Amino acid sequence: MNIKELIKQMTLEEKASLCSGLNFWNTKSIERLNIPSIMMTDGPHGLRKQATEADHLGINESVESTCFPTASALACSFDRDLIKELGVALGEECQAEDVSIILGPGANIKRSPLCGRNFEYYSEDPYLSSEMAKSQIQGTQSQGVGTSLKHFAANNQEHRRMTIDTIVDERTLREIYLASFESAIKEAQPWTVMCAYNKLNGEYCSENYRLLTEILRDEWGFEGFVVSDWGAVNDRDKGLHAGLELQMPADGGIGDALIVEAVKNKTLSEEDLDKAVERILNIIFKVVENKKENASYSKEEHHELARRIARECMVLLKNEEKILPLKKEEKIAVIGELATKIRYQGGGSSHINPTKLDNTYEEILNFAGTEYVKYSRGYDLSIDDTVEELVEEAKKVASEVDKVVLFIGLPERYESEGFDRTHLNIPKNQEELVKVLKSVNENIVVVLSNGSPIEMPFVDDAKAILEAYLTGQASGKAICDILYGEANPSGKLAETFPLKLSHNPSFLNFPGEVDKVEYKEGIFVGYRYYDKKEIDVLFPFGHGLSYTNFEYSDLKVGKNVIDDTEKVSVSVKIKNTGDVFGKEIVQLYVRDIESSVIRPEKELKGFEKVGLEPGEEKEITFELNKRSFAYYNVELGDWHVESGEFEILIGKSSKDIVLQETIRVNSTDILETIVTKNTAVGDIAHLPEAQQIMNEILKSLGANKSDSGEGNMFVEMIEFMPLRSLTTFNHEGGQQMLDEIIAILNK
Ligand code: BGC
Repeated sequence: MNIKELIKQMTLEEKASLCSGLNFWNTKSIERLNIPSIMMTDGPHGLRKQATEADHLGINESVESTCFPTASALACSFDRDLIKELGVALGEECQAEDVSIILGPGANIKRSPLCGRNFEYYSEDPYLSSEMAKSQIQGTQSQGVGTSLKHFAANNQEHRRMTIDTIVDERTLREIYLASFESAIKEAQPWTVMCAYNKLNGEYCSENYRLLTEILRDEWGFEGFVVSDWGAVNDRDKGLHAGLELQMPADGGIGDALIVEAVKNKTLSEEDLDKAVERILNIIFKVVENKKENASYSKEEHHELARRIARECMVLLKNEEKILPLKKEEKIAVIGELATKIRYQGGGSSHINPTKLDNTYEEILNFAGTEYVKYSRGYDLSIDDTVEELVEEAKKVASEVDKVVLFIGLPERYESEGFDRTHLNIPKNQEELVKVLKSVNENIVVVLSNGSPIEMPFVDDAKAILEAYLTGQASGKAICDILYGEANPSGKLAETFPLKLSHNPSFLNFPGEVDKVEYKEGIFVGYRYYDKKEIDVLFPFGHGLSYTNFEYSDLKVGKNVIDDTEKVSVSVKIKNTGDVFGKEIVQLYVRDIESSVIRPEKELKGFEKVGLEPGEEKEITFELNKRSFAYYNVELGDWHVESGEFEILIGKSSKDIVLQETIRVNSTDILETIVTKNTAVGDIAHLPEAQQIMNEILKSLGANKSDSGEGNMFVEMIEFMPLRSLTTFNHEGGQQMLDEIIAILNK
């Protein structure tokens, strides 16, 4: 297909018509040129194809599809292959339903645990988030189905999401918020990217040339087209020029007419329009080429896959006295309405109509047998107040068994797309139940269903806590598998659980003032902040327990000194020292020991999930590159490694570092220091030409007077003195000397 030739045959109106939707989910066709219409639907962890009435809030019915775990759970698997498998399954369902592009994954950073959509996002860490997004995209696109990586960019809250101006400094943007998209775009090439609703530094993302053209295409080499979030267009022709090709959903032709008019009155060039049309057509014909006729999938197999994935995502936060796994012959009480009315997905545009739904209580009952399992509702999920009769009944049931498995968490009315939470509490009636039940039975196991962190005033009242997150339609069976040791928990937290909300770095600036939110915490998001400030947390990033133990040894770094252009390998051995099969997530963090810029204590730069039989040992290898050591240097407009020593930290979590090694990395960047009269003396000390001059200056100012207090004072003061001070201390010939020095140093 020669797309350029095709565009030549199109009228201006036809070209403009391709730049907006036909309706809620489809692009327009041009029959005379055999250009078909294609369909996009949500996303991200299942298919929300609306065959009849459409909406973007998840209100109207959609066709049945598999509801997989949501992203906040998926990221806890830390498993690239597994996420790829999920992507493949989504691709298969799209092919079967004739959907060309699935609207996801979402790679926005969890800046605050309050964001209503955190369940749809992966992590507070950009490396993990981008790796997960990359894998999901690769999986889906391997099936000839496109993805839409969303919401680009810095869309980290729901409050006023359509107008909020997100103010982020360049370094933070690059290191945290854009980095979460960057490698997914560079390495997986999503067919489309969805621009966010919000403004970024004063300009709507939908018309942000810097974001959509300079960074996304010119720097990162994005080849697909940009689609607006549903209703995100503010100024259509400005948007088109900025790099927004497709406006969704249909707006009754208003946007198309504006484009035609703008081309006619030359405020928009026809080349810009042609470029946009070419990008859209490239994808439309890619869809045509990759269409699998009569595609189908097995609902049963996908349900099984959803279960397998769910088991890999759940995180065992606590397990005192090895109270878990349960034994079949133990008498247990399943308490809590969330065990029967399970919460397995979030509200809003990602809401799936599942092909099937496990009921956790029934799964437990089937597995263990009715003689061993009792049930009590405990609380009314639809309200926050305690119902005394329910509590009394639950107490009675709890007092008659060996162990209590209590299901609590966030009801849907507490977290959803469209609004943010204002606190991290679960309903009072659920929270209080933990203590009450503990008064009659010490053996409390808590199972949590929630899309993002909660405060846990009950943490000490439970011997075990299993964070089940929102793990999709098969979560009921997956929870049962983990409780009874049919599966060994292997997820680790992809986000920090703070002790309380006010500890969160964004606390003072969330959700901002009126229409503006400033990311004043800068790069210190999540564990980067808690680590640096030495703030205790409830459960740290990367934390998760297993029913077995792992021992780490033999950390080896390929080379002790490298240039920043070189790659270096790091290997470490892991052994399963317990007596059941288990999987461990090995985490590699890098710490810059000394730096002239403010840097986090450590940053995640590698992870691997490894499965081991009892007694088995494996060696795993990481490869680090320049980005593993670099920060974003705003003056340079690029990533930069400061020469020096770095620690390679291997951890079971961000707080549990078990091995470390040091490596020296030398920068190959040539940084130009422009010397002026206001350059500090100390800032030129590293220039070879400066050495001799410096010595003479120090001598002439008497700074080399032995190691007396006076001498030290001089050295300290002179380090941060501007060069112009030379004229203050040396009137005679001082100015001439200053001019000469500056000239020599700038040579
Ligand atoms: C959401 C998107 C979603 C779109 C279509 C918007 O409101 O922000 O994530 O893909 O609706 O439903």
